[in-house]
Amino acid sequence: MDLVALKKSVENCACGKEHRFDLKALEVDSGNLYRVGEILNTNGFPKRILVVADGNSFKVSAGIIENLTNSGFVVEMRVYDDMKEARMEEVDELRLLLRRVDGILSVGSGSCNDICRYSTFLEKKAFAIFATAPSMDGFASDGAPILKNGFKISYQCHQPSIIIADTKILAKAPKVLKQAGFGDMMAKFIAMADWRIANLVHGDYICPKVMELVRQALSEIVALAPYVSLDDERAVKAIMESLVLSGLCMQFTNSSRPASGAEHVVSHFWECKKLERGEFADYHGKKVGVSTLMIAKIYHKVAEIENIKATKENLDWEEIKRAYGPNLTPEMMSLNTPTITDEVDPKVIEDKWQEIRRAIKEEIPSVEELEKLYAQAGATTSIADIKVDKKLCDDGLKFHAFMRKRVNLTRLLPMLGLDVLDLYYNR
Ligand SMILES: [Zn+2]
Ligand SMILES: [Zn+2]
Repeated sequence: MDLVALKKSVENCACGKEHRFDLKALEVDSGNLYRVGEILNTNGFPKRILVVADGNSFKVSAGIIENLTNSGFVVEMRVYDDMKEARMEEVDELRLLLRRVDGILSVGSGSCNDICRYSTFLEKKAFAIFATAPSMDGFASDGAPILKNGFKISYQCHQPSIIIADTKILAKAPKVLKQAGFGDMMAKFIAMADWRIANLVHGDYICPKVMELVRQALSEIVALAPYVSLDDERAVKAIMESLVLSGLCMQFTNSSRPASGAEHVVSHFWECKKLERGEFADYHGKKVGVSTLMIAKIYHKVAEIENIKATKENLDWEEIKRAYGPNLTPEMMSLNTPTITDEVDPKVIEDKWQEIRRAIKEEIPSVEELEKLYAQAGATTSIADIKVDKKLCDDGLKFHAFMRKRVNLTRLLPMLGLDVLDLYYNR
């Protein structure tokens, strides 16, 4: 991807917002493992660095340390046994290690990048990524979800200045990680619809240019669905670049709107509940892929309704608090005092109903089309595969919308007198 051309394409955008990003270099090519030092040098990365990896990402990147030292880098290392979750303890440890170096090269994906992103941000040190799996769209993100005292909180950080990946390594990444990256991209269909709906009924900021970029990335992924699970360097390059682009689109808008809608919130609800029980919450994109299919089904059911009657909602907050439980209720209530739908006029929903229906139909492929794509990619569609039972699944669908102070279509359903589970189960 040509970052200079991308930067140019969003200059003087009609939306009125200045779209900027800090990423200086994105290098995704075959054999880049042997160019890491050269790429870092070309882009002015400091010479005294800490390489952070986990056992697996370090193994698949064998040779990287030699390449760095041969290129003049003084390298210290911290290799974690396993890195399923990003924890504050690790951020604290890296902050101490960072005092001896000028920057971190994070070798890995997901959680490994997140602890590096946050620690380098806090210590004001340079940050670059050597990605080993195209598993989610957070590479270029300037936020990091970190687990602290059992809660996952997203912290404001900085973007990496350089992202490097070797398509030979990406192509050989475990299928489940590549399928997770695919799932995280499928969510963008819902994100586009929810963004348009929030703009229609709540006046949320929207940028047609950024939407166009997301749609382009999506159409590329759709075309490559049959190659997702294969050891295919060309496909994996396109997927990796789409994931990075999705992160850049969030940066452009200072918002997660271009990348996530109701499906991410459902997945987040499941994740919080599973973490509360001490269970591994599974890969982000894998869960999001499953919730995307569910939300697609619900939204298309809503779009079938030709005329709608909207009223102010009448919620049973005690029931909602019970569903969140004592640990999650305080945070949930703080996001809902006042609640976002207080700012939505029922009359506006009624007036914009045909445009809302159009947003759903134009942005989200039919459930059948989505299922076909998932089958081609080998991505999971079942809650059993992500170890979510029916009760947790239903609670997620029913109560997720209160986890954000944001208008998604699912948050408007009580105003429309529609029950999310009735829609989902065709009742
Ligand atoms: Zn714009
Ligand atoms: Zn995501």
